[in-house]
Parts: sequence; structure tokens; C-alpha cells
Amino acid sequence: MNTKDAHKVIENLQTRPYICSENTIELDNGYVIAKKEYFQELQEARERQIPKKPNKRQVGTNILMSKIYYCPICDKKLYDCAIKKGKLDYVSPGSKKSKFCEDCGQAIDWSETV
Ligand SMILES: [Zn+2]
Repeated sequence: MNTKDAHKVIENLQTRPYICSENTIELDNGYVIAKKEYFQELQEARERQIPKKPNKRQVGTNILMSKIYYCPICDKKLYDCAIKKGKLDYVSPGSKKSKFCEDCGQAIDWSETV
């Protein structure tokens, strides 16, 4: 927002009706004034929508390997499976590749996983 825009907002607040909620004031020129904490909350929520690769921990050998994937943000266990000779052999019950972490809402990018 430049100085001209800021003047417009102030002018707008003084002369025109506006919609006010607990966290935001919506002006009729399209601007929204938000509480700083609320704005940061929105920003964080938006960042969580950008898919991130899960963290991976693996144990075992090339013949039999166990892979466990965790949320990159809150470290919740998301998915675990066993790979036998390079092929998917076993998926733990209840374990699935969810698009979003159930705990923190982070979007997960599963593109490079087995
Ligand atoms: Zn999470």
C-alpha cells in the first residue's frame, strides 16, 4: 500500500459505510483492514496450502525396508510401509497418504514417495 492508497483508506473510513467484524474491517473500495494477529494467521494458513514433501525415516536393507513419513511441520506420523526388493509389500493399517496433515493442515506432496 502506498501513501495514496493509505489516504484513500482513511478517507473511505471517514466518509463511507464499512463492514466490521471481530478481526477485519471491510471497506467498500475493496480494501480489507485486518488485525495483525489475524493477518499472520491467514498468512500461515495460506502457506500451509503449499504442498511440502513429508520427512522420511527408513530402516532396513535393500531387500526389506521400512519407510515412515512424517509431517514436515508438526512431525505427525502420516504413512508407513514396507518395501520388499524394491516393491511395496505392506502398508500399516490406518496409514494413508492424506493430502493434508490431520493435525496442522499442512498440504503434503507425495509425488516422490512409494
Ligand atoms: Zn502436521
